[in-house]
Amino acid sequence: MENDVLNLINGTLQPALGGEWLENVEPATGAVYGRIARSGVDDVEAAVAAGRAAFPEWRAWSPADRRAVLHRLADKVAENAALLAESEARDNGKPVSLAAAVDIPRAEQNLRFYASAAEQFASESHTMGDGTVNYTLRKPLGVVGCISPWNLPLYLFTWKIAPALASGNCVVAKPSEVTPMTAYLLGTWAKEVGLPDGVLNILHGLGPEVGQAMVDHHHVRAISFTGGSSTGAAISAAAAPKFKKLSLELGGKNATVVFDDCDFDAALSTAIRAAFANQGQICLCGSRILVQDTIYERFRDAMVNKVSRMRIGDPMDPETKMGAVVSRAHRDKVLAAIATARGEGGTILCGGGRHQPREPRLQGGFFVQPTLIEGLDHTCVTNREEIFGPVATLQSFSDEREALGLANATKYGLSASVWTRDLQRAHRVASGIDTGMVWINCWLVRDLRTPFGGTRQSGVGREGGYNSMRFFTEPQNVCVKL
Ligand code: NAD
Repeated sequence: MENDVLNLINGTLQPALGGEWLENVEPATGAVYGRIARSGVDDVEAAVAAGRAAFPEWRAWSPADRRAVLHRLADKVAENAALLAESEARDNGKPVSLAAAVDIPRAEQNLRFYASAAEQFASESHTMGDGTVNYTLRKPLGVVGCISPWNLPLYLFTWKIAPALASGNCVVAKPSEVTPMTAYLLGTWAKEVGLPDGVLNILHGLGPEVGQAMVDHHHVRAISFTGGSSTGAAISAAAAPKFKKLSLELGGKNATVVFDDCDFDAALSTAIRAAFANQGQICLCGSRILVQDTIYERFRDAMVNKVSRMRIGDPMDPETKMGAVVSRAHRDKVLAAIATARGEGGTILCGGGRHQPREPRLQGGFFVQPTLIEGLDHTCVTNREEIFGPVATLQSFSDEREALGLANATKYGLSASVWTRDLQRAHRVASGIDTGMVWINCWLVRDLRTPFGGTRQSGVGREGGYNSMRFFTEPQNVCVKL
């Protein structure tokens, strides 16, 4: 049927072997617009078998040939950028302008970045001074699993499969069942660009079914996972007794820390973008805004003024800056979190509920007003648990020490952004914050070579640059007595 999302196994696009389907819902309308293959253990068996069969040939490809094929896949992304951006907006509810400016260009960039890494990745050697030399081989693992979430669908899917392929592995990848369309489209070009059958296999379906079967499979040597912290915990528990390599990129509850000597306008506009970009559904979103008490009221009022004027619209309209949240279930979760904030005594400064659009097409859509809340301290659930929607809180602090205490007062440790003109304080505060990444006077500026990942409940391991290439390879030391 039109809009069917099929598996890619051994170079063939096919329905799930069990013949079952899931519904694909458009978040802006609430309507079903396609079907998704609902894969299970048998599909995982077939995909892993295909990967194992393809591995000897694929690992023997020269780095230059792997580079070339990844560039050709990136070319397809570039040629089909408009189709991919529209598909992402329809599947996810994000504004098509955002998908066109961020998601799809970044997917292309991921493929090109790791195409280069295929050739540039190098390993170490250690000489012992007595004529003995050690050199370290970096061998691909075999078949690896890549599991990605719905918030940045093709962006995070390519962020995983590109280094896995560049380093010579065969891949079984599973995009989120909530937003599978762009990964499916990417798979339709695999053969045309020259990827041998079985090198890239893409399975669709539910996490606890097909995702779990990937994690459980004896011949899947590593799992690179991005998603929620509780799913990460379940995957860890299943993978640990099998001694799989694991990379876990999980949730966040990130602080935006605003000191009174900051560039006020830059801090304000970036704090708003950091809280509400992609409807607040980015793991790096700054959902806790900490502002020094000397400028708190001015900052809060300016923020409320701007946020309450943000317009929600049809994701498919190129003018829209804020679209739908990803699903009915997610909308209800976000609304429940706002109700919790009210119950905890929080003051809703703006937003606080569903948005009901006027357009007939959008009547059944999943829209939430951008919401700012104050009056809750760091012990409240609202300031401790990830909401992952267009909801942010404001808290004030008096000095650097208190700012650090608040910034670190969650179980997560993904990222933070710090706003000050005092260079010494900027570096001091950055090093005092227990997160994997800190931005100073900016947010979400990304150099793909840098280590990306979190501490504590935000994950284990780092992606980016050679970190991903190391994750997807096994070091083998060879010691030579000359
Ligand atoms: P999720 O954990 O529900 O799902 C992520 C993926 O895991 C999906 O493909 C899902 O099908 C699969 N999955 C679910 N249960 C599974 C299981 N038992 N075994 C194997 N696979 C399983 O997350 P989500 O709701 O799709 O995404 C939102 C979460 O992702 C948020 O918590 C967000 O912070 C996090 N996230 C983190 C990063 C990061 O880089 N740290 C980036 C984006 C999103």
